[in-house]
Amino acid sequence: MTPVNKAGKLSSDASEKGDLRMPAKVDMDKIVSLCKRRGLIFPSSEIYGGLASCWDYGPMGVELKRNVRDAWWKAIVHERDDVVGLDTSIMMHPGVWAASGHIDSFTDPLVECKSCHLRWRATEIESKGCPKCGGELTEPRMFNLMFKTSMGPVEEEASTIYLRPETAQGIFVNFDNVITTSRRKLPLGIAQIGKSFRNEITPGNFVFRTREFEHMELEYFVKPGTDEEWLDYWVKERFDWYVKLGIRKENLRLRQHGKDELAHYARDCYDIEYLFPMGWSELEGIANRGDFDLIQHAKYSGKELGYYDAEAGERYVPYVIEPSAGVDRSVLAFLIDAYDEEEVEGEKRTLLHLHHYLAPIKVAVLPLSRNEKLTPLAKEVFNKLCPNFVTDYDDSQSIGRRYRRQDEIGTPFCVTIDFESLEDKQVTIRERDSLAQIRVPIEELGKNLEAKLKGEAFDASPLWATREK
Ligand code: ATP
Repeated sequence: MTPVNKAGKLSSDASEKGDLRMPAKVDMDKIVSLCKRRGLIFPSSEIYGGLASCWDYGPMGVELKRNVRDAWWKAIVHERDDVVGLDTSIMMHPGVWAASGHIDSFTDPLVECKSCHLRWRATEIESKGCPKCGGELTEPRMFNLMFKTSMGPVEEEASTIYLRPETAQGIFVNFDNVITTSRRKLPLGIAQIGKSFRNEITPGNFVFRTREFEHMELEYFVKPGTDEEWLDYWVKERFDWYVKLGIRKENLRLRQHGKDELAHYARDCYDIEYLFPMGWSELEGIANRGDFDLIQHAKYSGKELGYYDAEAGERYVPYVIEPSAGVDRSVLAFLIDAYDEEEVEGEKRTLLHLHHYLAPIKVAVLPLSRNEKLTPLAKEVFNKLCPNFVTDYDDSQSIGRRYRRQDEIGTPFCVTIDFESLEDKQVTIRERDSLAQIRVPIEELGKNLEAKLKGEAFDASPLWATREK
């Protein structure tokens, strides 16, 4: 037998190892139902009938989402010396949105059905009539996607503010603060993760397009003239990030925007697209924003925003390369790509082949039964593991059912405590993808799991290794 599991290292490439998965062919309903069943994602305000396109992350979903954010932050901020982080407020001075162009240009043409009153994005309508009821449609009218609210007790024009539709502007308006306080040279990136809000006309496809979502954005400031090279660099970096975290290369592709499609601020732009159940769709956008934002903010605020390059002895306004990704959309792509169904001994097994770094739970401790002799040892094992790994303890129902529950949330390793464990102080580790099982001394369990979670092969070659029945 050969080692069966090579997943786990953040730097490993899932599509190049012995991948046990079937091609990604799953419909969204299955993902939505798994998410509900296993506490990943629930409809928002469900007991009130839900709120359209709003979703809540449950106990497992919140861990998965954190891991996606952490993986991004690790790759973008912690593992580099040319990027720093930032966390800016959601509500900003309205002048920011005038300068950025969001008040004037962040609009979609909208048509409304005269009979059922549903609204549609004019660009998405192929037929003459309403796609729902065939009714007559109005002429397109521009609809601003920003959510308006008012600050302070009086609702008047002057108090109108907006919920940010992207985190990027918080970075641009702090460019000078960061440059002067961090004493860094260009190229320098400033990264931010946080909530954004867009009053989308056609939200849907689960968490693919929602009105409240989380952005992971990097604004990478470079010397003009080096921008095209940096755009290529970031397109590759970002594409590889998804692959390293387990998405199969064949489910990803790059698409360059046509000249007529570029946003008002962009000189060039690539989308990383993923093959979602509804077809190829944007997962992340990487744009060359030129000097548009710093120039606009300098103009509207009256503050000079530039950079003095001491080595070259010149002052210039940097260009910006912006990789902009969605946490929720990434979570969805990771779930879809990890989803698998197979038959084990005549029974259906649903599992998520999530990368170890992303899996909500890393280890599940499962006593064979609730027998009073097993419980203290099982609890002891749990207490030993949980300071180092996100660990679950589950002793309800049959062991087979508990394995299946862990498979469905992508737990890479289950540790089983049985009656022999009381005698030989050994436990069984069972690996999610291969179902292979090995026995290890409790004393070595932590070290063993750590190595495997970091990518060491699950070596089921010894004669005493077994397979879950
Ligand atoms: P789309 O064309 O899908 O509306 P966009 O081009 O407007 O997206 P950007 O402004 O480039 O999106 O945002 C960058 C990323 O943020 C997207 O690639 C996506 O991952 C995420 N994102 C944008 N809008 C939403 C949304 N309404 N819901 C969930 N994620 C979103």
